[in-house]
Parts: sequence; C-alpha cells; structure tokens
Amino acid sequence: MRASNNQLLGSLEPVAWTALSVNGRRVELAKGDVLHEMGAPLGFVYFPETAVLAVASETLAGESVNVALVGEEGVVGAFEACGSRQSFATVTAQIAGTIWRVPAGAYREAFGNSPGLRNQIHRYIEMLLVEARQFVACNALHTVENRLARSLLDAHDRAKSTSLSLTQDALAQLLGVQRTTIAAAISTLQREGLVQSGRGVVEIVNVAGLERASCSCRQTVAYARREIQASTAEPCEA
Ligand SMILES: [Zn+2]
Repeated sequence: MRASNNQLLGSLEPVAWTALSVNGRRVELAKGDVLHEMGAPLGFVYFPETAVLAVASETLAGESVNVALVGEEGVVGAFEACGSRQSFATVTAQIAGTIWRVPAGAYREAFGNSPGLRNQIHRYIEMLLVEARQFVACNALHTVENRLARSLLDAHDRAKSTSLSLTQDALAQLLGVQRTTIAAAISTLQREGLVQSGRGVVEIVNVAGLERASCSCRQTVAYARREIQASTAEPCEA
C-alpha cells in the first residue's frame, strides 16, 4: 500500500505506518462533512491528505468560531485519543479531499508501540503551541489585511491550490472579525491585484505579492517549524 502524503504518516517508520494503515482507511470528504462533534466520544483520529479541516470552538451560548485549519501537515483527534477520549471542538471539512481515518483504539496501540510516532506527535504538539502563541500576538498587533493575507497563504499551503473554497463568513470566523471587516480587507487585497474573490472562492492571483502583504508571523512560524522538524535531538522515548 502506498504511503500517505500526510506529513506525519509519511515520516513514520514502515512498522508504524503498517499498523495505522492496516486498521485505517483513506476516505474522501465533501465540504461540510462533520468529523468530530463538541462533547461527543472520539471514534477516530484523522490525518488529512488533500482535505483541509476546520476546528471550531463553541461558547456556552452556542456560538461557534473556526479557530484553526489543519491540512496535510497535521492530525486531529490524536491527543484526545490518548487523553479524555472525547472531542472538545467540532471538526468539519473546510475544503473537500482525502484523509486517513484511523480508529482511536488502533491509534492508541500504534502510539504505544512506536517511538517514531510518539516523537512525531510530540513535535507536532510543540508546533501547535508555537502557532497558538504567535496567533495570539498576531491578533493583538497586526492589521486585518496583514492577518487575512497570512491566513490565505496558510490555507494555500494546506490546500496546495491557489483557488481556495473559503467564504467571507469562514474567513471572518478564522480571524475573529465581522464579515463587513473581511469584505473590506478582501477589497483592499483585490485592488492591489493580489486576490480575486467571488462565489465562496478566493483565488490567489499573486502569491509573492500576498507574501509581502502578510505580517511577519508567517516567517516566525515557518522558522519554528523548520527548526522543530530539522532537530536531531534524541526523542525522549527512543
Ligand atoms: Zn501577524
């Protein structure tokens, strides 16, 4: 069976990949498919390939905001599968595509048996913490246009496409701002010839220009990702 293009799965030693792939299967997702529901028992761990997943947090009043996009660089459900075994976020397919779906029990068994998988997951947790801290700083310090440019490039990295199936509502949720604010920011980027927006799709016209319009947080996170991935430090549980 061919290896997955999910970066975590693709980096595993053959024994760990076999343990996960024998018990899991590749699934094609449509936009809007729900994978995890807030408060529900966790059945599966998902490793995106071409699909991009949106992770949404909810308030007690029932409001819901997408707080992260996860693509081929990541996984959802891995920490919960080894922890509380329930989901504290709602996870849906933001962009259609394929994922690897692994039953939570099979994932736990592979995690227990594979130092390589544990090492990859530990590095991924470290990366998520770096991103979370940086995005808190970004929200406080940088303009909506800067942050929108960064978010579109992040989605571009994950979807591997310049045509992004993202509505203005979805972008407003991701950045935690009003839809009218996003509409104005998209208009600004459009006037500068960087993007073209319409019918729930944002087309990136000029990737290099959008990089220049993005805030420095993108480089900060990319630097941390390279350092974490390239580190030759011995895993704790080798
Ligand atoms: Zn920023």
